[in-house]
Amino acid sequence: MQEEYPVLLLPVMETASDWAALTYEEMGDSDYEVEKPKLPTAGALQISVRWALSGGNSETGLSMLLGNTQRSVYSAARDTFVHNASREQGARFGREYNGDGKCDFCPMLASRGAVYLTAESAGESTQFHDNCHCTISIERP
Ligand SMILES: [Zn+2]
Repeated sequence: MQEEYPVLLLPVMETASDWAALTYEEMGDSDYEVEKPKLPTAGALQISVRWALSGGNSETGLSMLLGNTQRSVYSAARDTFVHNASREQGARFGREYNGDGKCDFCPMLASRGAVYLTAESAGESTQFHDNCHCTISIERP
């Protein structure tokens, strides 16, 4: 399974990155040339298989592997957006509120619009409350 996993997953990740690159290109009308970041190596993906299958039993191991698979595909697209917005002069990040109304802080950050210079300062990897599903948005110049 360790050998086949990257063979199956990498083309899907490539497609997700292609989609993100095309979408990023259509978001703006500058001459900026969209670039796709490198995908993880087959070896890195095989480490994830070993982690999932050795960390759980037959049921939880597959669940862990499924979670890793979903995150890998999502990350291929997200990394393409962030990679390009980080490279393009004038691109900005914002916080996209996807909450349930139980948090006041995330809507306040989101209301500021795309004013952040980096994905990190927009809270890319930060959960401000339990079950925070907020994401970042990108605005091209
Ligand atoms: Zn939130």
